Amino acid sequence: MNTVFAPLAPATALAPVVERIETLLVDLPTIRPHKLSVATMDGQTLMLVKVHCSDGITGIGEGTTIGGLAYGGESPEGMKLAIDSYFAPVMIGEDATRVQALMARLGRMVKENRFAKSAVETALLDAHGKRLGLPVSELLGGRRRDRLPVAWTLASGDTARDIAEAEHMLDQRRHRIFKLKIGARGLKEDIAHVAAIKRALGERGAVRVDVNMAWSETEAVFGMAALADAGCELVEQPVASTAALARLVRRFPVALMADEALTGPESAFEIAKTAGADVFAVKIEQNGGLYNAQRVAAIADAAGIGLYGGTMLEGPVGTIASAQVFSTFADLQWGTELFGPLLLTQEILRQPLDYSDFELTVPDGSGLGIDLDEERVAFFARNGPRKTISAG
Ligand SMILES: [Mg+2]
Repeated sequence: MNTVFAPLAPATALAPVVERIETLLVDLPTIRPHKLSVATMDGQTLMLVKVHCSDGITGIGEGTTIGGLAYGGESPEGMKLAIDSYFAPVMIGEDATRVQALMARLGRMVKENRFAKSAVETALLDAHGKRLGLPVSELLGGRRRDRLPVAWTLASGDTARDIAEAEHMLDQRRHRIFKLKIGARGLKEDIAHVAAIKRALGERGAVRVDVNMAWSETEAVFGMAALADAGCELVEQPVASTAALARLVRRFPVALMADEALTGPESAFEIAKTAGADVFAVKIEQNGGLYNAQRVAAIADAAGIGLYGGTMLEGPVGTIASAQVFSTFADLQWGTELFGPLLLTQEILRQPLDYSDFELTVPDGSGLGIDLDEERVAFFARNGPRKTISAG
């Protein structure tokens, strides 16, 4: 027996590799219809991805969208297809400990697909954090805070119901920053809606609006002036165009936030060059991952632009991935809107997230610091038992 050509190092000394990638769609009901200018959501679909590594460690990640394809080019079903068919062959067999190098490799082989990339990057970081016994925040340079303020979105479409919902949140000490989704109705009706809510809440609650690009520039000129008068403190993406945002900024005594216009560090740099927004809504999915979200935050800091931690209405996995990144930002002047899990009626974690005293606690366990309740995930999986029951 010739043993001269035995491997140079024993197998145990080799870096763990990505062995298998699993994706599934989970359909969860929401507490009420969520009305945006682009869509009305009656439920939320999570695309969960599990990256299984050769050292027995599995990382989880999540991709979601707002209203299927109503918000952008990716859907949960599309993300699943992209990961199964195109991401997995690029990732399998690769060193699972070199997350940035693997994401760069993926970037060369797969264009766009920012939401799906965010989901797999989350899973790789979760796995590597578990491997090292560190929270994801520590892999990203270290957290600066353990608790994040969380805004609530009032989007029932009904003024009285929204006021009642805000009062309930204030009583429970869950939220005191309220974001109103407007733009689906006429300008005057929207302004009256915002003014009525701000009047009812007074100094007890901050009121902001998100127009989701529904206004023309002319409408935005009238709208922002009226919103400032009504006591609204921030207007999010009133128009689609970056050039129009730049023309609107600093014209009215109300902060202007870019959201849809931010699609990664390059777009952040373009807006920063003209100081074309007061605030950036940073979202891990929209920017193509956690590292990119940090790059966008660095550009904002350098340009004197404020930061807000945005949501794609992620469930608990994507929400905590976002929280881990936002905890590392030097400044988070406008707080976050990481309320996605609170919009869902069903818990899919073994230990629910801690929302208390108007804030969310960033878990300090290794990786994301959360555990999926696999039985409940299986129950709500598309074509799972729940669907069978409701069909019967
Ligand atoms: Mg928005």
